Amino acid sequence: MTKPSLTLYLAAPRGFCAGVDRAIKIVEMALEKWGAPVYVRHEIVHNKYVVDGLRAKGAVFVEELEDCPDDRPVIFSAHGVPKSVPAEAGRRNMVYVDATCPLVSKVHIEAQRHAENGLQMIMIGHRGHPETVGTMGQLPEGEVLLVETVEDVARVEVRDPARIAFVTQTTLSVDDTAGIVAALQERFPAIVGPHKEDICYATTNRQAAVKAVAPRADAMLVVGAPNSSNSRRLVEVGANAGCSYAQLVQRATDIDWRALEGIRSIAITAGASAPEELVNEVIDAFRDRYDVTVEKVETAVENVEFKVPRVLRQPA
Ligand code: SF4
Repeated sequence: MTKPSLTLYLAAPRGFCAGVDRAIKIVEMALEKWGAPVYVRHEIVHNKYVVDGLRAKGAVFVEELEDCPDDRPVIFSAHGVPKSVPAEAGRRNMVYVDATCPLVSKVHIEAQRHAENGLQMIMIGHRGHPETVGTMGQLPEGEVLLVETVEDVARVEVRDPARIAFVTQTTLSVDDTAGIVAALQERFPAIVGPHKEDICYATTNRQAAVKAVAPRADAMLVVGAPNSSNSRRLVEVGANAGCSYAQLVQRATDIDWRALEGIRSIAITAGASAPEELVNEVIDAFRDRYDVTVEKVETAVENVEFKVPRVLRQPA
């Protein structure tokens, strides 16, 4: 039987970013250096396939430091942690390695610098997301106000409207965040912040690539995890860019083939924590059913790389 033809628009950049790559390497190096088990506080990156792979090598994933024994090394995930976490690890004399992405650490430093200058902090982010918890936790509890929407901006109560600053989560929607920043600037003209926001290069580039492929395709699939903020934003960006069917899939077995009946084209991308193996698995699943022509749509070339510490050891 001849297969129907399908154009597959493959967005680039997609998948792993420099921060995710570095965090995974840190866990692998820790396992090599100290042997199993090595504890990891929170999923090192939000992807089940990656986490399962590291678990098979001897990593133990826990949600809280209290779930780790004192005598085994612990790694903090790429999303960052509140200051209280390394402080507690130090108090317990634990060996720990911080795999926080340097771009998240940069936001932590920004928040602290503004607070030292006497500014009250507002964070634009998603309540409960580990990165938001980590960034807000750089300052004492209650010091950072969270806004998630334009409506929140109208409600937020600050000490002194002339003495405030903002930071953002790195994985937000570029377009939604621009609206929230504009609302903050309108309500608090003196607010201090980054040039635009703190959304990282990887989030920005993946969203821009989706805007280029989504309007061309009958449907779009984002390879990524349901708890991955940047992957979920890619689905929203695809839908907003005019793709009538935009779905998140963790891997090929999640594809709803019935929903895709009759399509002539598909756009595929992957969140910053999704490995390329899973993208290839999804493409192969399409090849099994269709006569596929792959068209790469590249909107940026990335060459960002973050150094992995050569020696992992307990911080002084
Ligand atoms: S998505 Fe951005 S901030 Fe998050 S780990 Fe990747 S590079 Fe770092």
